Amino acid sequence: MKIGKEFRWEMGHRLPLHTRGCQNIHGHSYRLIVEIEGEPASNGMVADYTDLKQIVKPLIDAIDHSFMCDTEDTLVGEFLRTSGMKSVFVGFPTTAENICTYIVTYIAEAIRSEKQRTSGVWDQADVLRVRVCETGSTYADAETQL
Ligand SMILES: [Zn+2]
Repeated sequence: MKIGKEFRWEMGHRLPLHTRGCQNIHGHSYRLIVEIEGEPASNGMVADYTDLKQIVKPLIDAIDHSFMCDTEDTLVGEFLRTSGMKSVFVGFPTTAENICTYIVTYIAEAIRSEKQRTSGVWDQADVLRVRVCETGSTYADAETQL
């Protein structure tokens, strides 16, 4: 069985080394689909959507209406630091693929930590899948065992 929940956020970014347009400062209305795979427990649930939201929401709050900046991008990085505008500095080019890896890692670590801390809530969750849709027609997928 697979369950899923969708999240959305707005974020600016750029790919400094791109030569076909993405080197310019721009943004996307990102869509995130988080899927959990496993056998439902006796209560009929693989996981509780509320617990999933509790894990993902802090991440969305951190990146929503921010500029995600590669630490290598000193030009924009310096502007963001001096202006104090909301930003998230990461050590990778902010492609959909890398953002997807960043998010799947964040959620997997949070779920694994909750699995150890509490019994029952995440016991049925075996596989995590994340899809990051950068535009209406493009996306990147990643998955990991929980
Ligand atoms: Zn873009």
